[in-house]
Amino acid sequence: MASKHIDLSNPAKIRAEIQKDPKGAFPLDVWETYCSKPFAHLGLYPLPVLSWRVDPTDPETAALDPQHAVDEALSWSIQTLMLLKSNQPAEALEHAKRVVKILARGSSIVQPKRGQPAAMRPTAVRAWVIRKYNAHPTKSNASWADLADLLFREKGRCPRCRRPRHQYDSACVKALCTAVRNLRSAMEHDGIPA
Ligand SMILES: [Zn+2]
Repeated sequence: MASKHIDLSNPAKIRAEIQKDPKGAFPLDVWETYCSKPFAHLGLYPLPVLSWRVDPTDPETAALDPQHAVDEALSWSIQTLMLLKSNQPAEALEHAKRVVKILARGSSIVQPKRGQPAAMRPTAVRAWVIRKYNAHPTKSNASWADLADLLFREKGRCPRCRRPRHQYDSACVKALCTAVRNLRSAMEHDGIPA
């Protein structure tokens, strides 16, 4: 389910690319590639931890009601079978990918969990990647407060706490730390060095 495979062999290039748009898709793609690497030969990566990159506001990947997902996947599966029977493997493959995507959105790993605000998860992934590659656009070895400023602020102010800057002990900084700690345990649980 990797959105985009990134070449991880050149950290300097990755750092420069993250610095251009730390809140864009690239850091998430880097993280997904890193997590998926040990499983790349399988072509599919059914790792629960990958649900962390899901942005609950993105209609392409957001959680679907499981019943709705099954109904929709069933109809696409039937079409896949029909395409296979009429010897159209390329079209069938596209349909099969669609089925996987729909089922992934309905699966338990993407459903919102208690005590874990879904919107915080991709932010934690970004923070982890920026720390790993030391890729804060303006500060080397950025502090957690710097990361919170970078990742939370919109139009000069944090929409969570309404402050223009975060202190090291502010609630947003603590929430970010906790989310990254939870992310690391989820990665380790899936056998990925965090
Ligand atoms: Zn804040």
